[in-house]
Amino acid sequence: MAIKDEPQPLHILFFPHLVPGHLIPIADMAALFAARGVRCTILTTPVNAAVIRSVVDRANDSFRGTTGAVAIDIAIVPFPDVGLPPGVESGPALSSQEDRDKFILALQELREPFDRFLSENHADAVVADSFFPWSVDTAAKHGVPRIAFLGSSMFARACSAVRHSMLRNNPAEACPDDPDAVVSLPGLPHRVELRWSQMMDPKKDPELWTFFHSVEAADRRSYGEVFNSFYELEPDYVEHYRTTLVRRRVWLVGPVALASKGLSVRGSSELLPDADRFLRWLDAKPDASVVYVSFGTLSSFSPKEMRELARGLELSGKNFVWVINGADTDATEWMPEGFAELTAARGESGLTIRGWAPQMLILNHPAVGGFVTHCGWNSTLEAVAAGVPMVTWPLHADQFYNEKLVVEVLKVGVGVGSMDFASKLENRRVIGGEAIAGAIGRVMGDGEEVDAIRKKATELGVKARGALEKGGSSYDDVGRLMVELMARRSSVTVDV
Ligand code: UDP
Repeated sequence: MAIKDEPQPLHILFFPHLVPGHLIPIADMAALFAARGVRCTILTTPVNAAVIRSVVDRANDSFRGTTGAVAIDIAIVPFPDVGLPPGVESGPALSSQEDRDKFILALQELREPFDRFLSENHADAVVADSFFPWSVDTAAKHGVPRIAFLGSSMFARACSAVRHSMLRNNPAEACPDDPDAVVSLPGLPHRVELRWSQMMDPKKDPELWTFFHSVEAADRRSYGEVFNSFYELEPDYVEHYRTTLVRRRVWLVGPVALASKGLSVRGSSELLPDADRFLRWLDAKPDASVVYVSFGTLSSFSPKEMRELARGLELSGKNFVWVINGADTDATEWMPEGFAELTAARGESGLTIRGWAPQMLILNHPAVGGFVTHCGWNSTLEAVAAGVPMVTWPLHADQFYNEKLVVEVLKVGVGVGSMDFASKLENRRVIGGEAIAGAIGRVMGDGEEVDAIRKKATELGVKARGALEKGGSSYDDVGRLMVELMARRSSVTVDV
């Protein structure tokens, strides 16, 4: 009796940039696709593999016995030998400009193992990080469609496309001399205005600017683009993207964090022994009474900024959980008098976390009623999915655009008054404790404004979860991409 050949499942290779803000959502995205029957491989280096190992193992365990789900593999390639100390393989581990330059070199050298993987393995598509612009040519050489992943919102993507074209067409208007000059970004569905000081300055950072040009050009030449976002969050920008960048296919598959199967280990190579303690601390607090403060994985603050933030938290009178990055840990340099008592075991109103926090678990705890965030896109979307209002404190990258989306378009947050686009601490004006406390009060106090923000945030959280459920917009976009790749596979086979 003839046995009918079962079609092989689709195989997608995921190739993330070596920073947590790209690696973590890619691991989540792989879980999302694997649950739908797509074979997923994540190509990365040993230290980065260790960061996602636990979530991948948990996803694979949870799929066992589930109809249709398939396992996720991690393909480990050595970190290129560029003279960095052993174990330094990720953005947050870099402590000097010299190391950062070596790291950039290492990223380029990943081209060779990526090429080799595609020579030795069949993949129906590669979801490659936009920060590897060369991957578009390597994928094309192997006849594999490259789907770009930049890891930002569609809104930020649209804003930066407008800025790039302004700089090409009208550099004087796009680059005023006065840092307080207001620059309008024309042609977008909303009126978007930023101060010049809140934008990347191509004159100060010409190399980075040129790099972003190459990112944009490579993404334009790609088969399509996948976003960690969902249609209901930024519908105008989906339409804008489709009409202004007509040649590109786009799929919105987020919020991918909701697909993670291991929230207590997400983003960390170690089990988080204190995770339970943090959650128990939150259990003892009234609903929506705690402000969560975290600035992602790549930001650091000067002692002066730390001091003002500590003052602001104290002045706000709210309970708080504050995640303090390694670089900011010398408390003697910044801690205001009396602050230690707030966080001491018996002080009860504040908890500081030095190291990795289980962010998704904290944001989704009923005690959390506000999030002071740098507006990294993952954190922003995680807050949206949890229905938590935000105090926005952008620092650099796409964060000022994300702030506009949160505060002015979605109306689920209040800005703290961040004015300076600067990854270097010395270039930023210090934000005072009073302003910080004021912004926290505007999302967690009483009154009409707070009620409206809270209501909007809750509604968006419901829509975010709905997007991933069967029949939701992101669920359908995953299906649409799978159907396209399957159809492409048959047409490629027929052509041969
Ligand atoms: N994150 C976390 N615990 C921490 C710090 C960060 O789980 O202590 C996660 C956070 O949930 C998010 C990611 O790390 O998924 C940070 O990405 P984001 O885009 O917000 O900021 P970036 O670090 O890229 O600036």
